[in-house]
Amino acid sequence: MSTAADTADVVIVGGGPAGSALALALAGAQRRVLVLEARAAASTEYRPLALSHGSRLFLQRLGVWPQLSAAATPIRRIHVSQRGGFGRSQLEAGELAVPALGYVIDYGLLSAALAQAAAQVADYRSGVSVSDWTAGEPALVSVERVGAAQQWSAELLVIADGSGAADVKTVDYGQCAVTARVTCDQAAGDIAYERFTPEGPLALLPDRGQWALVWTVAPARAQQLCELDDAGFCAELQQAFGRRAGRFTAVSHRASHPLQLRRSARQALQHTVLIGNAAQTLHPVAGQGFNLALRDVAVLARQVLEEPQELGSLRWTARYLAARESDRSTMAGFTHGLVRLFSNDIAPLAAARGTTLSMLGSLPPLKKFLARRMTFGPRG
Ligand SMILES: Cc1cc2nc3c(=O)[nH]c(=O)nc-3n(C[C@H](O)[C@H](O)[C@H](O)COP(=O)(O)OP(=O)(O)OC[C@H]3O[C@@H](n4cnc5c(N)ncnc54)[C@H](O)[C@@H]3O)c2cc1C
Repeated sequence: MSTAADTADVVIVGGGPAGSALALALAGAQRRVLVLEARAAASTEYRPLALSHGSRLFLQRLGVWPQLSAAATPIRRIHVSQRGGFGRSQLEAGELAVPALGYVIDYGLLSAALAQAAAQVADYRSGVSVSDWTAGEPALVSVERVGAAQQWSAELLVIADGSGAADVKTVDYGQCAVTARVTCDQAAGDIAYERFTPEGPLALLPDRGQWALVWTVAPARAQQLCELDDAGFCAELQQAFGRRAGRFTAVSHRASHPLQLRRSARQALQHTVLIGNAAQTLHPVAGQGFNLALRDVAVLARQVLEEPQELGSLRWTARYLAARESDRSTMAGFTHGLVRLFSNDIAPLAAARGTTLSMLGSLPPLKKFLARRMTFGPRG
């Protein structure tokens, strides 16, 4: 077996949305940036993502928003409720003085647009699956192909492969998210619904006149829902959600995603950092995973640009980790708390849920504070 060695200043493992956004953000850094992406072609999976207003501003700064805006549906109102319980809350874009609370976009479209833009400014290689990486001086990445192996060394190795290292802390929620596009007898406009049911949260997000569904249920129920015929699925959804959006008439192919909270070990690594889902994977209940990933990207790119000395040294990567710790912990804790409070059928917690929703409704400053944190991150 032959081994060829090569070097790059920054090697990004994973050219998904986070890895591609980082390559774009590093465009002005005068560094040789190499992106290694396992997929040979763009993802065709339908997964609706709610981008926060803060994420939109960042994508605009990266110059990629014009390619995305036609496919993105603005959310101007969010309606939160719980099935069979009192309490509800509504949030409007005007309350935060932003044009929209967020934007719904398909993961496949977003990934493809970012990858295409990244390929204009970096050496982006598709169909290259990394088999191993090692932190150190230098950090090393290996790719194995039939009969040959290739190795790259990097001053800064960025793991953006969506799963990270083996030493992750995992909480398995014992839940799956069923995603699909749903058609209704009334066109979806600019309202998003989040409904908490004892099985888990059910989100209906407007997506170009249709509804994007993210429905959290137990794994066996997810499998059953995916196997139902379209009419049976629409009937089950109607039963769980009610008639607030109208009558569901058709549904696309469904996918099921197992849900976990995963956080990578927090000590600094030599010449290596983890970003996006590789660093932390959140439950989608609050739609924060990619928004958090973009804040990883923004902080890392700024550090590469503003602190080029000793790039990747242990002190350098420790500074990056410290800069990200508060935002990451807050979002992981907030998301985890929401799942625990809202995904069960325990009577005192049902009352607490109602109270929380009513409080949010009657205490505008608290609601505003939470909404700003979710829209802009820790500086919101
Ligand atoms: C049902 C659901 C709904 C969600 N809703 C929202 C939402 O509303 N808002 C939000 O902000 N977030 C949401 N998320 C989270 C969001 O999808 C993730 O945070 C986001 O995809 C993270 O991007 P990433 O690039 O870090 O990882 P990924 O999207 O997982 O991309 C990783 C990339 O690395 C590549 N890769 C993997 N292994 C290798 C390898 N060995 N070598 C080379 N390349 C490799 C993969 O092919 C992929 O392209 C949701 C998630 C789910 C499951």
